[in-house]
Amino acid sequence: MDARALANGVRKRCPLCGGRDIFASYFTIRERCGSCELQFAREDGYWLGAMVVAMTLVVVAFAAVFLGGLALTWPDPPWTGLLIVTAGVNLLLPILAYPWCMTVWMGLHHAVVTSDRDEGTQPRYDR
Ligand SMILES: [Zn+2]
Repeated sequence: MDARALANGVRKRCPLCGGRDIFASYFTIRERCGSCELQFAREDGYWLGAMVVAMTLVVVAFAAVFLGGLALTWPDPPWTGLLIVTAGVNLLLPILAYPWCMTVWMGLHHAVVTSDRDEGTQPRYDR
């Protein structure tokens, strides 16, 4: 597993070269990396993996906020307040983390691709 690719994804950078010029706007990722010209979306449905990253993030955040709220306020938890806060987290977090989920997905994908198919070499992508 190529931990460097995953680390680049966590830092919102190109998984291959670590370049920062990968987003055209907050919600729009460029077709290719501005530094190494790596093609980001390699096939139709590629970004479904980013949705899985987002859903995982939301589930973990929901559990942390809900269980943390229960633990802090037990034995008399404010149910309506917990509902409002957890619903807010569930609505806002995927929007705020949208670019990060895309780059983490690319990092995960490249980490697995390089370890499974291209150990010791750079991945072969369309240029
Ligand atoms: Zn790059």
